[in-house]
Amino acid sequence: MSGSLTKAIGYLSTRATAGEAPVSFAAALLAGLAPDGGLYIPERLPNVLGSGLSADKLLAESPAALARKVLTPLIGDALASELEPALNFPWPLQKLSSERYVLELFHGPTAAFKDVGARSLARLMAAVLAGRGERTTVLVATSGDTGSAVADAFAGLENVRVALLFPVTGVSEVQKQQLTAARAGVRAFAVAGSFDDCQKLVKSAFADAALNELGLSSANSINIGRLLPQTLYYFWAAQQLRQEFGVKAAPLVVVPSGNLGNLTAGLLAREFGLDLHSFLAAHNRNDYFPRYLRGELSAYEFAASVATLSNAMDVGAPSNFERLQALFGARLNRLVSGQVIDDNATLQRMQLTYRQDGYLADPHTAVGLEALARLRNEVGAPARPAVLLATAHPAKFPEAVERATGTAPEPPPQLAALAAAPKQVESLTAELSSLRAALLDWPD
Ligand SMILES: *Cc1c(COP(=O)(O)O)cnc(C)c1O
Repeated sequence: MSGSLTKAIGYLSTRATAGEAPVSFAAALLAGLAPDGGLYIPERLPNVLGSGLSADKLLAESPAALARKVLTPLIGDALASELEPALNFPWPLQKLSSERYVLELFHGPTAAFKDVGARSLARLMAAVLAGRGERTTVLVATSGDTGSAVADAFAGLENVRVALLFPVTGVSEVQKQQLTAARAGVRAFAVAGSFDDCQKLVKSAFADAALNELGLSSANSINIGRLLPQTLYYFWAAQQLRQEFGVKAAPLVVVPSGNLGNLTAGLLAREFGLDLHSFLAAHNRNDYFPRYLRGELSAYEFAASVATLSNAMDVGAPSNFERLQALFGARLNRLVSGQVIDDNATLQRMQLTYRQDGYLADPHTAVGLEALARLRNEVGAPARPAVLLATAHPAKFPEAVERATGTAPEPPPQLAALAAAPKQVESLTAELSSLRAALLDWPD
């Protein structure tokens, strides 16, 4: 065909040796983890904006149109077009006082930003499998947010079904309602055991010959098919900042962080040509990464996780750290700073934000707001405009929000409908034999 077609970008493991051949995006997507145990990254980082983002030029009219523009060089036009039904909820940018702009990523079906990555991954996997005439069963162990985002994202897709494993007593009431809502092609299993037991079950299922005949897949957060679509909302935020608010300065971006997937996506967006000044990684007491940035810990000197109010960020060993190292190395310190925020400061910031701005922030978003306040205090210079990612709807954490502000957050329609929605859940002992029996007896 046309000689102007540029060669598709390949993907390499973070542990690849010199001269190793890259694999296609489709192969990296279906594999999840590379065979050598590393994570996939693009072999090169294209400038997708060409002449750049200008204040008077719209980048794209919708997230779906943005996907075609930004991701076509990375995953090809056909797959980029598949993302349209995944990106069907708004990402509004709200202005707070003091040049702070909050990008709300929680208006999707499960009211947390993980909907963006999970819905994108589902559509991409379904398209690649359909092209190959294959089917798969996605197995997920979950202690909360990821599981419901994945279940919702894959529900009803022809060639994929989902088995969710959660600890019978280990999830909150809202989370349980989200996990057990009846969905086409999804089975939820309440396991008599801990979250660790659920993870062990999934691991042994992958090693089980009979179950592997089914074609098992994972949908965890290290998949490159989740990461690349997460770059899109950074482009969207930059566009809104210029178009709606007339802000021309490159913003600081504040990212409430756990596994560092969101931060990695933001740094990639910057490499793809987006004019972002720098990043602030906002962590709760799970503080490995900020301490690494300050030189207090060396690479991979991880610790066990501790429980906090912002529980989706309770990660002791952030899996995307390996990607950040491979992609940015020593440049990380020039691009990113970190802050550590404890539960008390989180609650105080929720209260202050409600009083000063009339804004209800969930605990994860509040960690980001407090981190920004501290960074500005330390720097002391005139404040640069800041874009802060709001990662969960406050109604997902009603107790903490009410405790801090005295106000009960209004649940959005998708959460309000859950209580009355039909449920589907099966009980399972924490033994492989019972999981095997359940999965092998899955009516078509
Ligand atoms: C997962 C999650 C985070 C952390 O994102 P990472 O990509 O793991 O750093 C922050 N907030 C919420 C609400 C989340 O669910």
